[in-house]
Amino acid sequence: MEKLDQRICIIGAGPAGLSCAMYLEKKGYKNYQIYEKLNKVGGKCWSPKIKVKHNGVEEEKSFETGAIMGAITYHAVSEMEEFGGYYHKGPDFKPGEPNMRREFRKTTGEVDHPFEPKVNFSFKKLKGLLKLKKQMKKLNKLMQTKYVGYDCYGHLGVAKGEYFGISKGVDGYCGATKENSFPNYIKGSNPNLKDLALPFAEFCRLNKVEEVQRIWIAPFTSFGYGFFDEIPAALVMKYLDVTTALEFVNMKLWTWQDGTQQIYVHVNDKLLHPAILETEVVKVERPEGKVIVTIKGKDGKLKKEEFDKLIVTTPLDYFAQYADATKEEKELFSKIIHERYCDYIATFEEGKSPNISGYLVENMVPERLGHAMVYYNRWQCLDRDCPATVYALANHTGSKDVDYDVVMKTMDEDMKKVGFPIKEKLYAQEVYYCPHVSSKDYADGWYDKLEALQGTKNTFYAGEIISFGDMEDTCAASKDIIGRFF
Ligand SMILES: Cc1cc2nc3c(=O)[nH]c(=O)nc-3n(C[C@H](O)[C@H](O)[C@H](O)COP(=O)(O)OP(=O)(O)OC[C@H]3O[C@@H](n4cnc5c(N)ncnc54)[C@H](O)[C@@H]3O)c2cc1C
Repeated sequence: MEKLDQRICIIGAGPAGLSCAMYLEKKGYKNYQIYEKLNKVGGKCWSPKIKVKHNGVEEEKSFETGAIMGAITYHAVSEMEEFGGYYHKGPDFKPGEPNMRREFRKTTGEVDHPFEPKVNFSFKKLKGLLKLKKQMKKLNKLMQTKYVGYDCYGHLGVAKGEYFGISKGVDGYCGATKENSFPNYIKGSNPNLKDLALPFAEFCRLNKVEEVQRIWIAPFTSFGYGFFDEIPAALVMKYLDVTTALEFVNMKLWTWQDGTQQIYVHVNDKLLHPAILETEVVKVERPEGKVIVTIKGKDGKLKKEEFDKLIVTTPLDYFAQYADATKEEKELFSKIIHERYCDYIATFEEGKSPNISGYLVENMVPERLGHAMVYYNRWQCLDRDCPATVYALANHTGSKDVDYDVVMKTMDEDMKKVGFPIKEKLYAQEVYYCPHVSSKDYADGWYDKLEALQGTKNTFYAGEIISFGDMEDTCAASKDIIGRFF
């Protein structure tokens, strides 16, 4: 059979599944099928429309329950935008666009200005800020010199002190601009990269740049990606490479007018074979040379389909339960940890919603697990009538998990204390979020072991586990996997 005629099954129509399909088409493959268990595409990019009323006028606006923002380093997402014909707003926002302005607040509600030396001036604050600036510069330099190769997508070779992957910028350093988007693969050895297996807090201690955690914490921990005493530095630095981190600091970010989900709706609409919705893959058998997938459709009936190849973009720890997983696959996938990220979109008591997004930094520590860490006001033009999304983490290695109901109640209490009393929750969820492995498993070469499995039993692994749990790393991982294996 001609290579391009192969029948390929893709499980999941989130950013990973849809980008795999797009990159397959770009290579000339036409015979693929995407199965999605929900009645919508986009996975964790879900942007419901909600009716809002402001100054007596009622209108419908998009809100975000999942992914919100991007940055100039989002090269793969740009390719999705191009394919679907749907583009971001920003980084310079016009009135009426969902911007990314934000403030810091204490848990008592008082507005805080941790990075503005002139507000609440003290010599201690000034000294602290100068130290932070110096360490930011130092880290930037270290990443360009000591840690050359850190910023390609994925984690191949890092545990052995090597790097291999698509670079986010040029020469192994992320100086990304629109013009140099997606430079070539980079490859090399750099024993210092092994440090990236350390938890980020330890990595910062080792390099004497502990202060930088003050900058990285907001777009990392409050975005549900875990705490710095447990998360390997590789995950932090690959998502928030210095260029992207500075885009956050300077609020040079992207948003999408009708929501991030629309990126994927538009891509799906342009595909030769749009995803088959409400169809869950419930069983996978892989006898010699074939893949037999059992699907459960809308009517609840089971059906078997035969394919040549399988691309799994869904949680691998779950895949091991419904597939004929080998001992090796079971063992490897059992090491996956995920964050329990909880959020809700709520309305507030009349005229009392936050009119700008806000970080509650005091709650971004494991001791405050289950507390609201950030709230997102998407439509600042609606002033104090706008529903907002509120977020908290429910797990941390070494702490007792917080029950979902407790998290929801705690977030309500927090928002009331801050001065934004919740009226009604419109959407609430707990998400399987940011799958990754521990520092120990990272150092033991977990990612290289996964790479060794690519293609065995006609199966390929994509999705957020490959690089990091954001839209860009996920779509770039698809580009890499389709590029190298198909
Ligand atoms: C609250 C929140 C905020 C976020 N903020 C940002 C952000 O600002 N910027 C950013 O870049 N990223 C952000 N993200 C992360 C981003 O959304 C994810 O990294 C991305 O969606 C991962 O894509 P994926 O395709 O790997 O997985 P998913 O999006 O989880 O998609 C997987 C799909 O597979 C389907 N599926 C699962 N099992 C089966 C089965 N057995 N059969 C058929 N279908 C199945 C699921 O229903 C789902 O649609 C955020 C996520 C959340 C939840």
